Amino acid sequence: MATLSIKNLHAEVDGKEILKGVDLVINGGETHAIMGPNGTGKSTLASVVMGHPKYTVTKGEILLDGLNVLEMSVDERSRAGLFLGMQHPAEVPGVTNSDFIKTAMNTRMAEGKSVSLFKFIRELDHAVTDLKMDDNLPHRYLNEGFSGGEKKRNEILQMKMLKPKIAILDEIDSGLDVDALKIVGENVTAMKNDNLGLLLITHYQRLLDYIKADKVHVMMKGKIVKSGGIEIIKRIDTEGYDWIKEELGIEDVRVIEEEEEKRVLLGVCATKEALDL
Ligand code: ADP
Ligand code: MG
Repeated sequence: MATLSIKNLHAEVDGKEILKGVDLVINGGETHAIMGPNGTGKSTLASVVMGHPKYTVTKGEILLDGLNVLEMSVDERSRAGLFLGMQHPAEVPGVTNSDFIKTAMNTRMAEGKSVSLFKFIRELDHAVTDLKMDDNLPHRYLNEGFSGGEKKRNEILQMKMLKPKIAILDEIDSGLDVDALKIVGENVTAMKNDNLGLLLITHYQRLLDYIKADKVHVMMKGKIVKSGGIEIIKRIDTEGYDWIKEELGIEDVRVIEEEEEKRVLLGVCATKEALDL
């Protein structure tokens, strides 16, 4: 059973501190949800765990089964069993979806070994069917011209194939219509097992109707300010975050959507980059 342990994590980008002491432990078999207003550092946390080069960790630690994740390259993190389903998956022209997944799977095999092509195709076909994706999506260039919903399903396709130990899904529900959300939710739920620890980052209760969380955390201003059970989700859904701010005496959190948009355009997918694609 895997354990991801994040202790007093501080991280900055361009000299600005974004994460200000995050503590979180995720064990295999558990599903955690992180909710929180825009711009509070949720995606930053996900990127820092995966090792995106843009962020500098200034304090704290991240351990995966006791091993120091911060010393691993992005590629090593991925091979160690960490997975990030991205909020904004990058388009990678020139590399087909199926080649990308096969390459990632091969890097997980022992030196000189590779995935059996027959097994790979069969497994990929099953995953595509389970996700009700278009048959030709695996053969198209990675995410190129995919709709928002297709990109999100594609992240789950990768997760199904790569079978990570710890998966972080960053707003996997955004851009999905109700039917797609149901399909994604059911597929993620079907993957749940004692060897998979899940971290769902979301704004809305609706994702958590399909994927049951065991623990819910609220993040504000770069910190987890509240943790509890699913009762928190309902309250956020009806009342927003004001009650938590009041409870904790936090002033209003700035919403910097424009800035976020800009970053997204500049952003690259760390995992994919590490694979030299
Ligand atoms: P969330 O996922 O919770 O919406 P993010 O982790 O994407 O939030 O962003 C956290 C904060 O980091 C935001 O306020 C954003 O503006 C800020 N940020 C991200 N990149 C930079 C940067 N290069 N320079 C300054 N601030 C940044
Ligand atoms: Mg985000």
